[in-house]
Amino acid sequence: MTTYEVIIVGGGHAGCEAAAASARLGVPTALITHRRATIGEMSCNPAIGGLGKGHLVREIDALDGVMGRVADKAGIQFRVLNRRKGPAVRGPRAQADRKLYREAMQSELSETPNLEIVEGEVDDLVVEHGRIAGVQLLDGRVFSARAVVLTTGTFLRGLIHRGDEMIPAGRAGEGPVLGLSLRLEALGLKLGRLKTGTPPRLDAHSINFAVLNEQIGDNPPEPFSALTSAITTPQISCFETRTTPQAHAIISSNLGRSAMYSGRISSRGPRYCPSIEDKIVRFSDKDSHLVFLEPEGLDDPTIYPNGLSTSLPEDVQLAFLRAMPGLENVVIKRAGYAIEYDHVDPRELSPSLMLRALPGLYLAGQINGTTGYEEAAAQGLLAGANAALAAKGAAPLILSRTNSYLGVMIDDLISRGVTEPYRMFTSRAEFRLHLRSDNADQRLTDLGIGVGLVGQERREHHCERMARLDAGKSLLTRLTATPNEARKAGVNVNADGVRRSAFQLLSYPTTQRADLEAIWPELADIDDKSFEQLAIDAQYAVYLDRQQADVEAVQRDEAREIPDWLDYALLPGLSNEMKQKLIDAKPQTIAQAQKIEGVTPAALTLILAVIRRGRLD
Ligand code: FAD
Repeated sequence: MTTYEVIIVGGGHAGCEAAAASARLGVPTALITHRRATIGEMSCNPAIGGLGKGHLVREIDALDGVMGRVADKAGIQFRVLNRRKGPAVRGPRAQADRKLYREAMQSELSETPNLEIVEGEVDDLVVEHGRIAGVQLLDGRVFSARAVVLTTGTFLRGLIHRGDEMIPAGRAGEGPVLGLSLRLEALGLKLGRLKTGTPPRLDAHSINFAVLNEQIGDNPPEPFSALTSAITTPQISCFETRTTPQAHAIISSNLGRSAMYSGRISSRGPRYCPSIEDKIVRFSDKDSHLVFLEPEGLDDPTIYPNGLSTSLPEDVQLAFLRAMPGLENVVIKRAGYAIEYDHVDPRELSPSLMLRALPGLYLAGQINGTTGYEEAAAQGLLAGANAALAAKGAAPLILSRTNSYLGVMIDDLISRGVTEPYRMFTSRAEFRLHLRSDNADQRLTDLGIGVGLVGQERREHHCERMARLDAGKSLLTRLTATPNEARKAGVNVNADGVRRSAFQLLSYPTTQRADLEAIWPELADIDDKSFEQLAIDAQYAVYLDRQQADVEAVQRDEAREIPDWLDYALLPGLSNEMKQKLIDAKPQTIAQAQKIEGVTPAALTLILAVIRRGRLD
């Protein structure tokens, strides 16, 4: 029997991050996964980040995780989404070269001290005296450990659906995992069934790009990681096409052949990432949907049509694709499919991601009912760190809704559970003005340093950055000007006679750095990056005080009863979907409404305002 301190099962996005985190804490760690070659595989779209998800990547990076650095090496088109909106809702995103991502992740892990990679399938758990003691592999090998992290993704009793075909599989071309589900059930855990889907992959040579809109990435590309100074991978364009009424007609007339609509799949899929057949049924008033054609790699002629996930049979997939501009002669390289899999009810977990029913066993990623690489990786980091901390006899790292999206996600999962695959959105965070992608390091890196999760390079980088920010902020707060002086330099403040600091003047969105330097030439000493960060911090400082008051009000009002006269159907500002959930659940108090999945902090604030007003209009 081989012995480690921590064993991570699964080399997907959760597993990679868990293994790296545990090893960073100096604990002998094994990553046991089916195949070394599929470590870091992107099962679906070759992209990292986006709205809400990009925040998670920055938080992973702030805790010295690997996803951001790997995405920077593999990214072939970087774009900051929502750039025209406020920094709080901007989401960094990168289209990745699938092969480069895998290779970069594999080389990152193989160079990580304290980490061994073992190929094999874990079939059972070893339990001794009511706690985890190790794992048993399908080939009979047994490995012992103080803590185990399961990150098995979509593999638990995975079943692929395409038309009327049903193929037991963890993902295309890979078998399902059966033994672990049985063991988890035997432990008395509640398992649920969820589904997700993927679109067909297209041959780039068969697409007429000349008739399509080109989508160019940001120049210069903005990296995810604080440790990446510049993106050096060549950058490419994506393209846009659209579904057409003819494509919709083909899909509508074949709905009975879709695995989902023929009743063969009963489990829930991600509502916010619906299949194309779902979109056509749910949004029947729309005669066209935007589809992004995303290259899967620099030297790979595979195109991922983002927005076309489907479980229709292959002949129907080809027919509707060929009814779209630029795709008239398209060739499918691999047909799309849906996959059903088991997940564990995350309400069985503690905030450290350890299963309450079996001390020492941690779960992370899709197994907890989430969807997405970033959600998986963020949980993996926390579970891996906590497994290692437990093995060292140290207290766990617990994150909160007030300091991170990761804290929001864990709290949502363990307190509300899931009825559909959970995906991160900025609207899930009530403190989102504070939880920005630009300040993840200010929020989290010191916490990571405190538990020993952050390596030397980042520690030094962080300390230098914080020292520059502190010095910049104290200079900006020290320097003050009268309204007259400010107005002369071009900052349009009220002529109220009140002196304002340079930091306060920076909070005006129209203030330019040059305006302030005209008053105080010494501000030129602040480097560009720090100045940019301080300007964002200054803009948000005003709102943060107000937000804090809102949050405290919601906390005070949690016990408040919801009166009978409040008719959600008539409440303006709530989506139809949210109204229906509230009507169905009939919460008696704000606290109960808060527990309903999908009811956002913004909706609660709206309901509270109506209750306080005593009427709907
Ligand atoms: P995975 O990435 O699935 O990795 C699991 C790993 O565990 C694999 O390496 C596997 O070999 C290994 N493993 C499993 N069981 C064992 C065992 N018993 N022993 C040893 N090794 C084991 N996400 C989105 O955000 N948007 C989408 O549109 C989307 N569509 C998807 C479509 C499909 C068809 C699939 C399969 C996934 C899709 N996802 C999508 C989800 C995304 O791929 C996952 O959320 C993410 O990969 C989950 O990461 P993970 O680490 O939990 O698991």
